[in-house]
Amino acid sequence: MRKKVVAGNWKCNTTLHEGVELAKAVDKLISEKGAADVVVVLGTPFTHLTSVVGAIDTKRIGVASQNCAAEAKGAFTGEVSAAMVKSTGSQYVILGHSERREYYGETSEILNKKLALALENGLTPIYCCGEPLNIRNAGTQVEYVINQLEETIFQLSEEDFKKLVIAYEPIWAIGTGVTATTEQAQEMHKSIRDAIADKFGAEVADEMSLLYGGSCNAKNANELFANPDVDGGLIGGASLKADDFIQIINAY
Ligand code: PEP
Repeated sequence: MRKKVVAGNWKCNTTLHEGVELAKAVDKLISEKGAADVVVVLGTPFTHLTSVVGAIDTKRIGVASQNCAAEAKGAFTGEVSAAMVKSTGSQYVILGHSERREYYGETSEILNKKLALALENGLTPIYCCGEPLNIRNAGTQVEYVINQLEETIFQLSEEDFKKLVIAYEPIWAIGTGVTATTEQAQEMHKSIRDAIADKFGAEVADEMSLLYGGSCNAKNANELFANPDVDGGLIGGASLKADDFIQIINAY
């Protein structure tokens, strides 16, 4: 059965102490209030992974890095490999976030290397896609996003593809307070699922978890998650407050 997933993306926020406290607060709220049938993931800075894994019940909450290196190991100063992420006890890695594509020049070629290494090391990629505002204004958002998928995750084997979680994040909605309408979210998610069905078959498409990201918060999560093709969210700003994050988790 298709899983519902709510993943936090803390980005470059929180000191180690603050991050561990935030993770503990989320863990405590989930133990008190439950998390419906939702898979919960915390996307922390690299420096926090081991401590966060140690501070929470990892049967209840998964931990993600927000990136990994495009090389397995070696002379790549400052990089953190997929194997290193895995060795912290983390299970997920966020790949292809628009901030990585835009500020750090991550191309489809680089992302394909990262995807392969993440999968080889047993990490579940949370793969992000999404269009900038000029593409949305031109009305070519579906072609743009499907092309992002064709250049990257549609190149994977069916076996590997099925291990992914996909997050649709319209760039114009990330951190802007502007959210896609429920119709816009559903239209794109349905288009992505249809494209997956064309490529890998209806059964695979039906099983894939497609998350929405972009100013999703405790107030609008309910409406966004009510769409038949929205299977949860990738949450930036609102994942930094445990009370807000738990409300989003419980929006189902
Ligand atoms: C994100 O960057 O993944 C994101 C969805 O951010 P925000 O929720 O802050 O828009």
